[in-house]
Amino acid sequence: MKQTARPARINLAVHGGAGTIERSKMTLEREQEYRGGIARALRAGREILDRGGSSLDAVEAAVRVMEDDPDFNAGKGSVFTSAGTNEMDAAIMDGKTLSAGTVACLEHVRNPIVLARTVMEKSKHVMMIGPGAEEFAKRNGIELVDTKYFFTERRWDELQKSKAAEKSAAEGGKKFIISEAESHGTVGAVARDAQGNLAAATSTGGTTNKLPGRVGDSPIVGAGTYANNATCAVSCTGDGEFFIRAVVAHQVSALMELRGMSLAEAAEHALADAQKLGGKGGLIAVDKDGNVTLPFNTSGMYRGYLGEDGKFVIEIYK
Ligand code: ASP
Repeated sequence: MKQTARPARINLAVHGGAGTIERSKMTLEREQEYRGGIARALRAGREILDRGGSSLDAVEAAVRVMEDDPDFNAGKGSVFTSAGTNEMDAAIMDGKTLSAGTVACLEHVRNPIVLARTVMEKSKHVMMIGPGAEEFAKRNGIELVDTKYFFTERRWDELQKSKAAEKSAAEGGKKFIISEAESHGTVGAVARDAQGNLAAATSTGGTTNKLPGRVGDSPIVGAGTYANNATCAVSCTGDGEFFIRAVVAHQVSALMELRGMSLAEAAEHALADAQKLGGKGGLIAVDKDGNVTLPFNTSGMYRGYLGEDGKFVIEIYK
């Protein structure tokens, strides 16, 4: 499934995660909530691009809005680990300089994407994790919160369901059905600004019931997040273990650069590579000419972009 908009001077796309997201299982009210969340993220990014701001600022702002929204699995709405804790990962990349900042296993940072940007701009490193990253956050005046901030009833219930399913499967009993949408999700944004610079940002709570210390594709440069002005900017969502092994985000860029593929073709190919290994999901990408593509191989992906007429296009299902 793909959608492609015509080249535009500025462009922006966001996602709120892919998975088993079906119209028949969604109430109208929930659907409106998700649509509203995607629209708020697009608005935040667009405002910056409209006044000539950078793609980096736009993707950070869009992701930040979704991190504060409990409906999405990032920041406030992060899923729980098997130990009942929340561990968040995020990454941001600048297509102009190929600079990147990424963070993982954060437990107290309200907006992981802000810390990722700070790692990129104020440290000599690319990736920082755990307590060291949080100490760095504190020294740079980034907001830290009590772990209670990340508690949501919905995510807690998902963890209990996942544990029950695990137990039942181990005992060879009846399998509970847990929708993939309940077990993961991620948020991301990609943008092209008026100067032609590309940027990508991704933030996630990871996967429900993951082992503490597990890191997914989102904060890995080239796997879940990548940006390069020569080709495209990409943010992925899906089964992280497979997206890492298929190096999905960089693969989109490499297929464009080395095989001369269009953005849409390259994105389909890279997703198929992850699927061959057994991983499903989706991605959003914008290329150097402002084309956008939003393919996924699950039943749905919360997503939106700036349409040709400048209006937001927001979609959930296939
Ligand atoms: N890719 C994320 C991870 O593996 C999860 C997701 O996007 O659904 O951490």
